[in-house]
Amino acid sequence: MSKPLLFSDHPPTPAETRARFPDLHPALTPQAAIPEANRCLFCFDAPCTTACPTHIDVPRFIHKIASGNVAGSARTILEANILGGSCSRACPVEVLCEGACVLHHSGQQPIEIARLQRFAMDAHQSAGAPLPFTPAPASGHKVALIGAGPASLACAAELRRHGIAATIYDARPRPGGLNTYGIAEYKLPLAESLREIDLIPRLGVEFRFNTTIDAAQLEELERTHDAIFLGIGLGAIHALGIAGEQLPGVTNALDLIAGYKSGAVLTSPPRVAVIGAGNTAIDAAIASIRLGAEEVTMIYRRGPGQISAFAFEYEHAKREGIRFLWHTQPAAILGTERVEALALIRTTDDSSFHLPVDTIILAIGQSTHSHVFADKVSTERGRILIDRATGQTSNPRYFSGGDCTNGGREVVDAVADGKRAALGIAALLTGTRREANHADIRM
Ligand code: SF4
Repeated sequence: MSKPLLFSDHPPTPAETRARFPDLHPALTPQAAIPEANRCLFCFDAPCTTACPTHIDVPRFIHKIASGNVAGSARTILEANILGGSCSRACPVEVLCEGACVLHHSGQQPIEIARLQRFAMDAHQSAGAPLPFTPAPASGHKVALIGAGPASLACAAELRRHGIAATIYDARPRPGGLNTYGIAEYKLPLAESLREIDLIPRLGVEFRFNTTIDAAQLEELERTHDAIFLGIGLGAIHALGIAGEQLPGVTNALDLIAGYKSGAVLTSPPRVAVIGAGNTAIDAAIASIRLGAEEVTMIYRRGPGQISAFAFEYEHAKREGIRFLWHTQPAAILGTERVEALALIRTTDDSSFHLPVDTIILAIGQSTHSHVFADKVSTERGRILIDRATGQTSNPRYFSGGDCTNGGREVVDAVADGKRAALGIAALLTGTRREANHADIRM
């Protein structure tokens, strides 16, 4: 019998990279997990479950850990969220489940929901256990999913539970989208992302990698499938549109993160400027420090009160020794053979100055690439418009979810979208769908 396809049979991340990016939140030991689980008040109408976009039954999975049923705990998590392992590492829990914990009201530390979730999911992975559900008998329906990120993975897994054939297409050679290529290694290691996705082909989901869907292939997919799910994420990081941007030494945050996660980038030049102050910008700045940069400066045209990064990410950046230049924007990139300096303007008084740098990392947000499907589905400012309840687009046979519909949110939001869209597709194909409310078709 041939060996099953394992995405995690990937060249291992270099030991040097692993050493530079240790876990931000180390795993709980059993000795620590049980007492932590026993701190939970097991609230009825638990606010943590409401705050979780995938509505994991948090008190239930924690109660199972407390009673020693760790396998059952993992099953509870996976029933709601197929990527419960990566979400346990990547979710910004301060603004989601843990932020809603009632213990805040009495001045106590919230339950460490994410670390408990990771405890259960790590045990599930280590045991080599399968996903806790099997596909329904084949319905005869087929769905093509474009993009292999979290939204498509969640959608495909749910479709299989309804007996619907699911094939995922992606331009890259590995699945996972941002989970695999774009989340800081100290939050979600590349190997962990792939190990989690290894379980999905076992449901019968098929994958086609290194495949960019062009107009002709899309027509073919339409002809051969009952529905199409667009989980295409976002496009490239925006350019600055200033002189010198083509010089060697200018890169962008996503390329840097994907590069070091795969082992292609092992070191950083000494002086780094990061343009932008969102979460991805901070990930890139911290990565530069960990890769050996001596001086990392983040440049933002507004003040600290206006940054889009979460407060805990900003605090983390400061702890790593990153310097911030507020109310400052780039005017030109200077250099002959490669980047030598950044010409900057203070937005408060229009004064200018030069910052000597060896590399510049752009992190001013991602463009959209939904225009590829513009003659198929309606978009607004580049976002694919959907009925939030079903994921259905303006085209009844097209569904969508994740970053291409919301402009860029969390992994857990994409998982929730994908699952919802699968239920919408299943209802459409089995003839039980409600009429799409086109007034709902909003992000
Ligand atoms: S998936 Fe994320 S938000 Fe939901 S309970 Fe788990 S850690 Fe919290």
